[in-house]
Amino acid sequence: MADRFRILTVGGVAGGASCAARARRLSESAEIIMFDRGPYVSFANCGLPYYVGDVIKNEENLLIATPELFRKRFNIDVHLNSEVVHIDRANRTITVKDLESGDIRGEPYDALLLSPGARPIRPDLPGIDLPGIFSLRTIPDSRQIRNWIDHYHAKTALVVGGGYIGMEMTDNLLKRGLDVTIVEKQSQVMPIVDPEMIADVHTALIEAGVALEFNNSVVRFDQREGHTISVTLESGRRIETDMVILCIGVRPEIGLAVEAGLNIGDYGGIHVDPHMRTSDPFIWAVGDAVEVHDVITGTEAVIPLAGPANRQGRIAADSILGRQRAFRGVQGTSVVGILDYVLAFTGPTEKLLKRLGQWEGLEKIYLYPGHTAGYYLGASPISIKLIFDTRDGRVVGAQALGKRGVEKRIDVISMAIQKKATVFDLEEAELCYAPQFGSAKDPVNLAGMIASNVMRGDITLAHWEDIKDTEAVILDVRTPEEYRRDHVDGALNIPLDDIRDRMNDLPKGREIWTYCFVGQRSYYATRALLQYGFNVKNISGGFKTFTLHESSKCLV
Ligand SMILES: Cc1cc2nc3c(=O)[nH]c(=O)nc-3n(C[C@H](O)[C@H](O)[C@H](O)COP(=O)(O)OP(=O)(O)OC[C@H]3O[C@@H](n4cnc5c(N)ncnc54)[C@H](O)[C@@H]3O)c2cc1C
Repeated sequence: MADRFRILTVGGVAGGASCAARARRLSESAEIIMFDRGPYVSFANCGLPYYVGDVIKNEENLLIATPELFRKRFNIDVHLNSEVVHIDRANRTITVKDLESGDIRGEPYDALLLSPGARPIRPDLPGIDLPGIFSLRTIPDSRQIRNWIDHYHAKTALVVGGGYIGMEMTDNLLKRGLDVTIVEKQSQVMPIVDPEMIADVHTALIEAGVALEFNNSVVRFDQREGHTISVTLESGRRIETDMVILCIGVRPEIGLAVEAGLNIGDYGGIHVDPHMRTSDPFIWAVGDAVEVHDVITGTEAVIPLAGPANRQGRIAADSILGRQRAFRGVQGTSVVGILDYVLAFTGPTEKLLKRLGQWEGLEKIYLYPGHTAGYYLGASPISIKLIFDTRDGRVVGAQALGKRGVEKRIDVISMAIQKKATVFDLEEAELCYAPQFGSAKDPVNLAGMIASNVMRGDITLAHWEDIKDTEAVILDVRTPEEYRRDHVDGALNIPLDDIRDRMNDLPKGREIWTYCFVGQRSYYATRALLQYGFNVKNISGGFKTFTLHESSKCLV
């Protein structure tokens, strides 16, 4: 038996289990053993918030595969409660500590896969270790949170951090009937997306009774009577709460790799080549612990998501067993559910590209199509922002928010980005259509059509953020009723249907910027006026985008 090729994995969840199972499919002869310091392997981390929210009622439903299944179906050994505490690279041996008995033993390897995941950040603040302050990473974490809610009949919770897990926890704590406060250092939840794309979510959170403490952070926790915690914020405000959930991000779990002298990248993840091999030729690493290449920005990135971890696990297994498949890199395609909303995005945002100095030559468009045909009952709008390169039409990124059909559109655009497609490809994409699922011109096609119009010079865009610096005439082509309800200061109102009769009201020598509600009527007006010799730009995304920009500023 000692002659068998030995593949060991550190970690037996997303990346570790994917690698082990794939390795078995490629080699019946290898000996494959997974070590995990936790009490489970292959569990659904992504389902944990929903277990807290009682959407998933049984803990067993979080177990995707058990050690028995790995043994019987895949002939893979699983050692639980077994922490790998040292890697001896020279002798190709790991040291494993049995966390129940305290026993320590050595295990030789031919190939070692590191998939130790990431560790929730717990800032070194006074009172951070008080009971009632939780992070969420494991099944026992979620069990403790559930027990705390039940035992103390918790009525209030404070969520620190408004990222993915903060949002999912907020949603699920609301489902349990708790009042939730979110404390977020930045001026928006989901700081990973552009501010105007999340403004509607802020409104929905406030309507759901969530208190938003933006541009603020926690400075200390104090125990109050009973189980209650007093949370002091940087602003000086104190909030009494029944519990605190820390959702301020994760750090790659790199202790073992550092101790073993493996190369670590600039962003704090284990450095790997495209085959997921570390700086040691006998050690591979995947998942939340590694740094990968962002294919759009060209920078390195740590992307703690299950999809990349699973795909990298397969690639590492291939590489371990002699197939040289390479990981394509990432573009950060994600989705999160927040109340009734679905937020999905792929590729970099405008703010990231600007921060990296990569905005030059890029353009953005906004559109608000229905998720189904307008005439079909229940059509619900999707807010879409598409970023593309005006030099070649290449699609760079997209963000979308809506209640239905959102992730489908982003998945299509994500694939387009991976295949280096252009806005002309989106314009021509052949997609499924029946009225209850979409429109004959799908939102993806519409995004492509609008951007293609820009590429072909049929239209020039203006943007709301530039309005304060322009001398242009601002032309509102909505109906007088819409205009009366609300409009941009100083805008002239000529409804689209009157535009040809009232051209004399418009100055020929001055630039004109048109807008309507979402940008469609103003596009028609722009095309007409251009042909009559006016110098016209269409303000992308219309008044809807203006209001989103304005309401995102209100919270700053
Ligand atoms: C609450 C929550 C919700 C999430 N929701 C989503 C989602 O909706 N979509 C999405 O794409 N991603 C989501 N993620 C992220 C996703 O779960 C991770 O990206 C993915 O699990 C990473 O896989 P991994 O193998 O790198 O690490 P993990 O799956 O975390 O596995 C690492 C394992 O290694 C073990 N380990 C660590 N060190 C050692 C050691 N020295 N010895 C032995 N064992 C060790 C750990 O105990 C752990 O079990 C979520 C994560 C959490 C926590």
